[in-house]
Amino acid sequence: MNTRGPALMTLEEALQRVLDAAAPLGRREFVPLLQADGRVLAQDVVSELQVPPNDNSAMDGYAVRAAEVVVGQSATVSQRIAAGHAASPLLPSTCARIFTGAPMPAGADAVVMQEDVEALDGQVRWLKPATPGTHVRRAGEDVALGALVLRAGDRLTPAGVGLAASLGVAQLCVAQRPRVALLTTGDELVMPGTTAPRDMAPGHIYNSNRFVLSSLLQRLGCEVSDLGNVPDSRDATVAALRDAAQHHDLILSSGGVSVGEEDHVKPAVQALGSLDLWQVAMKPGKPFALGRVRAKEGAPACHFIGLPGNPVSSWATLLLLVHPFVRRLQGASTGLGLPTPLALPAHFDWPRADKRREFLRVRRNAQGGLDVFPNQSSGVLTSAFWADGLVDNPAGTTIAHGQTVHYLPLADWGV
Ligand code: AMP
Ligand code: MG
Repeated sequence: MNTRGPALMTLEEALQRVLDAAAPLGRREFVPLLQADGRVLAQDVVSELQVPPNDNSAMDGYAVRAAEVVVGQSATVSQRIAAGHAASPLLPSTCARIFTGAPMPAGADAVVMQEDVEALDGQVRWLKPATPGTHVRRAGEDVALGALVLRAGDRLTPAGVGLAASLGVAQLCVAQRPRVALLTTGDELVMPGTTAPRDMAPGHIYNSNRFVLSSLLQRLGCEVSDLGNVPDSRDATVAALRDAAQHHDLILSSGGVSVGEEDHVKPAVQALGSLDLWQVAMKPGKPFALGRVRAKEGAPACHFIGLPGNPVSSWATLLLLVHPFVRRLQGASTGLGLPTPLALPAHFDWPRADKRREFLRVRRNAQGGLDVFPNQSSGVLTSAFWADGLVDNPAGTTIAHGQTVHYLPLADWGV
């Protein structure tokens, strides 16, 4: 048996291949705004009005003709305009009491803050001069009539959902959630809750990947079917894959993709379709499988991705490679690569260069630098929980204290 495995592939090449393999699913649905956060828009949103619809006051104060405001002189307050109420044209040489968000009266060109006047008995005395345009929000300054406000491919955020609401839109056309079947593999795995810690058999460990990966996929906007754990046998793996291939867009598995005799994922996927097994030159990570499976001949093909079993490796490969894949399935125009790195100083030494590109679990400190988690083993899930970002450290590179490094915030992946 050839146990050497395939040659190392760069992360960029793996990313390109992942994106090439995924095409937008193209299924759309309308969702009410309150369910739209995090979804990817499938249709442009064009504004049918201008926002704000009228010139209005940005302050509580007095609407004026700026030229009529002379410091030390007084003016009569000729009307009171509250938010949500119409204004009459401003009478000459008078001012209007006005509140934030209320429409400007015709003829007025500025608002004087209430702090800048002395108010007494239906009159105000000006304490400061006024300039045209001050404290006035212009009609259309946020959104012009006919503007393309949100684009197909945009991922909605709370602000994006609010922007749609400001246009009077009540529901949005979004990409349907990709249907992802999740399975873990390994005879050693025990589901938490089924066996108490003191009763665990020798060599058994709790299944943590199921929870990491399911949570990540849900944050990514997938509809996750949890298929549980599959024992280390080819027949069981084939059966699980065949079942999952019927109703899903993607089957995601963890473990069993190395080249050992107990790694049954590769032959099982090959029995039902095709598989590329890569050794991606990244740490944590490395084995990564991409393929397609069919429930039976002639049935539609379902994508397959096999992640490494080590908990930090599967977590990191999901962020680096599965995240872009899912974004592509959703038709997203962002999130198709790595986050934009920030240049930050390392407040640690990393004296051992690795052959592979490393993604070190780090955390920002109060001094504006980065601390590193002391144990970077791919089995130490504590490092992934502790971290708020990854340092993208090129292959063969050491890091000296104070040196500027590339920091990828986990928040950019939404985790
Ligand atoms: P494998 O890729 O199947 O050889 O697994 C590599 C390492 O990851 C082994 O130490 C496994 O026990 C561990 N592992 C695999 N799957 C899981 C899982 N679902 N939860 C926690 N550890 C796992
Ligand atoms: Mg295994």
